[in-house]
Amino acid sequence: MHKVGVLALQGAWQRHAEALGALGAHAVEVRTPEDLSGLEGLILPGGESTTMSRLLELSGLFEPVAERLAEGMPAFGTCAGMILLAGEIRDGRPDQRSFGVLDVSVRRNAFGRQVDSFEADVAVDGLGGGGFPAVFIRAPVIDRVGDGVEVLASVGGHPVLCRQGRVLAAAFHPELSDDLRLHQLFLED
Ligand code: GLN
Repeated sequence: MHKVGVLALQGAWQRHAEALGALGAHAVEVRTPEDLSGLEGLILPGGESTTMSRLLELSGLFEPVAERLAEGMPAFGTCAGMILLAGEIRDGRPDQRSFGVLDVSVRRNAFGRQVDSFEADVAVDGLGGGGFPAVFIRAPVIDRVGDGVEVLASVGGHPVLCRQGRVLAAAFHPELSDDLRLHQLFLED
C-alpha cells in the first residue's frame, strides 16, 4: 500500500500521518468524500467516537467510507477508530453509528477514565522483536469476538489488537509510541 488515508475529522490523526510518512507511504488527510479517491487503505484514529460518527455524517463521508469498506478497502482503527469499525457498541450514544466491518462488541471507556490512562508492554502475535509499547486512553474493552476475528494481543484477558481480513483494530494508540511496527504491518498486509 502506498496512498493511505487518515480520517482527519477529529482526534489523534496527525501522528498517524507522520508514522505513514516515516514508512515511505503517502498519507492523505481525509475530510471530504473526494479525498477517498485512489486510496488503498484508511486509518481511523483515536479521539471521540460519538463526535466522529456525527462528523462522518455531516461531511457526507459516512456512506462513501462504508461503501469502500464493503468493497474490501483495508482499514486500521485505533481506539475510537476501532469503535467506528465494530459491529456492536455498548455504552455508546443511541445515535452513534459504526461501519460494522469488525465482528466484535466493544464497551466504550471500559478501561477507565482519562485519569486511568496507562501504558502496557504488549506481546503481539507475529510481530517479533519484543513487546509493543501500547498507550491506552479511555480505551474501549472488546467483550465479544466473532469467529472470523483473529486476536493478536490481549491485556488482562481482554483482546486489544485484532484482525478480520483486511481490517486491523487496536484498543490503544500505536501512533503515540515511536514504534512503527503496527503501521508497517498494516501497510504490508
Ligand atoms: N472513549 C473514546 C470513545 O469512546 C475513545 C478514546 C480514544 O480514542 N482515546 O470514542
